[in-house]
Amino acid sequence: MSLMKAELERRILEIVKQRGKKGVVQSELWSLLGVDNREGSRAVLSLVRKGLIKREQILYKGRKTYTLKYVPEKLEEVNFKISLNPVIKLPCFVCKELYRCGTGGFFNPYKCNLLTNFLQSSSA
Ligand code: SF4
Repeated sequence: MSLMKAELERRILEIVKQRGKKGVVQSELWSLLGVDNREGSRAVLSLVRKGLIKREQILYKGRKTYTLKYVPEKLEEVNFKISLNPVIKLPCFVCKELYRCGTGGFFNPYKCNLLTNFLQSSSA
């Protein structure tokens, strides 16, 4: 008896997830789950469309097939360091006029000596 569609997708995802970066060969998956190619492929394509797994074409035992890999929800972390020190010294952070400062106003970043001096000293 064939597995229900949602249950089949859930089990495929579980197996693919467990295999991690190595992934699982599609035909191997069919025998693990006891489903035929047509039924399995349909569930796999549904998972691919949902962005949960990806397929990579490979040559397996002389035949073209796919390896299925899990697509982690979280994108890989990007590590970078930034130094806040120059920004922290920005006079606007401690300026009592910050909330009424703006272009066209009396307090105006384009005319502000404090900001101009800061920018000139930082770019030196
Ligand atoms: S630009 Fe000048 S006036 Fe405006 S918030 Fe910054 S330091 Fe204050």
